Amino acid sequence: MDCIFCKIVDGSIPSKKVYEDDQIVCFYDLEPQAPVHALIIPKAHIACVDDINESNSSVVAHIFEKAPEIAKSLGLENGYRLVSNCGADAGQTVFHLHFHLLGGKKLNTNMA
Ligand code: AMP
Ligand code: ZN
Repeated sequence: MDCIFCKIVDGSIPSKKVYEDDQIVCFYDLEPQAPVHALIIPKAHIACVDDINESNSSVVAHIFEKAPEIAKSLGLENGYRLVSNCGADAGQTVFHLHFHLLGGKKLNTNMA
């Protein structure tokens, strides 16, 4: 499968890793949209939020359990945004589930 985030997981594409464990990886976004912009992804390929189901949702819970720790390690004590684009209207460009972790400034409150 030609998925760039699967390639980041297997190491065939380089990334600036922030956190990794047996289930998830967090790395810096290539084109940051905030002073701190990282992506948290499951190691297993899930295309987008539409494809989360009973059999794979534990990794999504794990992402949310780890997000505060990752955010703190990136200095985001003052808050952060965790967001996932799903499908064309949201402008999803990489079809491997990922959560943008954004912060490091007072973020724009207009989310749409
Ligand atoms: P989305 O538009 O939600 O699908 O977001 C995809 C994100 O992945 C964008 O913010 C890109 O800048 C980022 N991205 C694409 N390729 C890479 C890469 N090789 N390493 C890090 N971030 C990437
Ligand atoms: Zn993938």
